[in-house]
Amino acid sequence: MSINVLFAAKAERWVTYEPTLQQAFGELGLDVNLRTEIPPEDVDYIVYAPNSDLQDFTPYARTKAVLGLWAGVEDVVGNQTLTQPFARMVDEGLTRGMVEWVTGHVLRHHLGMDMHILGQDGQWRDHVPPLATDRSVTVLGMGALGQACAEALSFLGFTVTGWSRSPKDIAGVTCLSGDDRLSEALSGAQIIVLLLPSTPDTENTLNAETLALLEPGATVINPGRGPLIDDDALLEALNSGQVGHATLDVFRVEPLPPTHPYWSHPNVTVTPHIASETRPLSASRVIAENVRRGEAGEDFINLVDRKLGY
Ligand code: NDP
Repeated sequence: MSINVLFAAKAERWVTYEPTLQQAFGELGLDVNLRTEIPPEDVDYIVYAPNSDLQDFTPYARTKAVLGLWAGVEDVVGNQTLTQPFARMVDEGLTRGMVEWVTGHVLRHHLGMDMHILGQDGQWRDHVPPLATDRSVTVLGMGALGQACAEALSFLGFTVTGWSRSPKDIAGVTCLSGDDRLSEALSGAQIIVLLLPSTPDTENTLNAETLALLEPGATVINPGRGPLIDDDALLEALNSGQVGHATLDVFRVEPLPPTHPYWSHPNVTVTPHIASETRPLSASRVIAENVRRGEAGEDFINLVDRKLGY
């Protein structure tokens, strides 16, 4: 009998994902009936994007797992009707994209590229930037994305510190964990990369107090989530020079309203939540692997811990 998989995401996603999911199920030899509409009582698995119309999971009594297409889960973890196992997306393609975006923006600031890209005015600015070994980068959040970025930055020679909830041991990276080590992770950091999830515990991780720990003129790079930063405190730190530049990809309200001060601040770069995205083929393979596991009675991968909120 076929495995019934409901695709619950915006219509334009169906066009992209239908062929890659079919390919991924085929690669694993799974006989799947993949549809955008299936009676709830017949659904075995749900492929899910949090912005879809499906918000009430109560009728899906036989569903073995809800398989998220997104890495961030803050819009889903509080859904009391979602009692089925819920896996988020950890996708090799998404990770690679984030590594490229983060290293690109770190290098922009490290090398002072703006000076030359924006300064074609006849002035010979022959200041040579320091080597990466003389630049300290702290990555807050050492999960799938933070760890990959920390490793790539360390490979380039940066002096990298990573901070997470639980201890880590990563070659080339000074790993700190727990609330009591946050100050240490931030003290004197020249570039900060935020790759924490948005949870009640991580809200305003960067605030007036923690921003004051950074090296004066530090760069803040946030591809994590908007609520990780106290926006007023960041604007104040930018105005005082405590923060030299902020490159922000995510915001409390998205799209960022046209009147928001970030848009007009000379030391802020706004990118429109494009740091990285789930890539259809590699993400489909992750979904297919979880369906295979469910059918084989094996543990699902990438399960969300609802208590921790990520
Ligand atoms: P993971 O869940 O794999 O990693 C989260 C990391 O944050 C872990 O290291 C975790 O610690 C740490 N963490 C969580 N809570 C705390 C806390 N209270 N104190 C200290 N550390 C904490 O997530 P990903 O790496 O896959 O993704 C990170 C975030 O990136 C996503 O939640 C999402 O918001 C964002 N994102 C942004 C995208 C964009 O385009 N801008 C695209 C995709 C994701 P521990 O290891 O101990 O569990």
